[in-house]
Amino acid sequence: MPTSRAAVFERVGEIELQSIAIPQPIGDERLVRVLGCTLCASDLHSFQGRRSVPCPTVLGHEIVGEIVQFGPEAQRFDWSGRPLSIGDRVSWAVVASCGQCIYCRNGLPQKCTRSTKYGHEAFKPGRELVGGLAEHCLLVSGTHVMRWPDQVPLAVACPASCATATAMASLDAIGELRGLRLLVLGAGMLGLTTCAIASARGAAEIMCVDPIDQRRQQALRFGATCVADPAQAAALVAERTEGYGADAVIEMSGVTAAFDTAWQCIRMGGTLVLVGSVFPSPPVPVALEHVVRRCLRIQGVHNYGPQHLSAAVEFLSAHHAQFPFESLVSQWFRLDEISQALAAAAQPGVVRIGVTC
Ligand SMILES: [Zn+2]
Ligand SMILES: [Zn+2]
Repeated sequence: MPTSRAAVFERVGEIELQSIAIPQPIGDERLVRVLGCTLCASDLHSFQGRRSVPCPTVLGHEIVGEIVQFGPEAQRFDWSGRPLSIGDRVSWAVVASCGQCIYCRNGLPQKCTRSTKYGHEAFKPGRELVGGLAEHCLLVSGTHVMRWPDQVPLAVACPASCATATAMASLDAIGELRGLRLLVLGAGMLGLTTCAIASARGAAEIMCVDPIDQRRQQALRFGATCVADPAQAAALVAERTEGYGADAVIEMSGVTAAFDTAWQCIRMGGTLVLVGSVFPSPPVPVALEHVVRRCLRIQGVHNYGPQHLSAAVEFLSAHHAQFPFESLVSQWFRLDEISQALAAAAQPGVVRIGVTC
């Protein structure tokens, strides 16, 4: 029986290469050969034990693969209706969903009660290969697949199925961006991507805040119109908005203290989008009277729907040369170098590390 090499996450701090039987796609499943997978911060949180994930599992959810086999009932089209053939390069939404449960029916397929989440599933017999750190990945029923145009580099394409699509969902929570004055908190992969999309969509002001100068300089290359240290954020926003505050604040740092900055910098009637806090953090005091009197809207965004991945693929295909996305993956490792890859991804200043089979 043909097997695939997979980097299996056994327990905190322990990952090892194993050979796993390649499943035969049944029904509408598809099988891909993994071309590359970039390591997202949440892979590191899982590996280092800051976030609980069922084990053993194959981590990795920023994946690009090449279709090698269709199940007997699998459609030969991607989610957007583009034809799909053996050999096509694809990304797919991090959560496969049933389409029928209460969340699927109410615009939150990522919270599907019968979901499969790539890079997050404990082993099930015959269904182990559902993560990016392996030579093959099985695309189970309910997976939303998008085909890539040939010219988009792998380093640009890999982050689409987590960072880029999540940035799309975060901006979607605000609505039309043309002419808006935005504050983006955090200049990691999410923040940089958000700045770039906002720039392409005509935001009038994109103010980006990060404590690290190198990351602030990077934000300027991704469309930020001005940058500041957190201590100077309120002054910068006041200066750029005639003292009114930002139309929308997008919190992507996951740092609890950033909530204070958001609170100070949002204008009356503004929208606060919370994205970064994806692991347990101390509670923050919220004066409810301020939410009421200032007519604020607070929206949490976790993962995304297939329309956001589709928009991410279109955005990166059209704009990847305009912003230095390719340079964000600073190094590639082979799958058998996974320990070195994880160590490199944990270094300060590293945005993305890639793993290729
Ligand atoms: Zn991720
Ligand atoms: Zn569902």
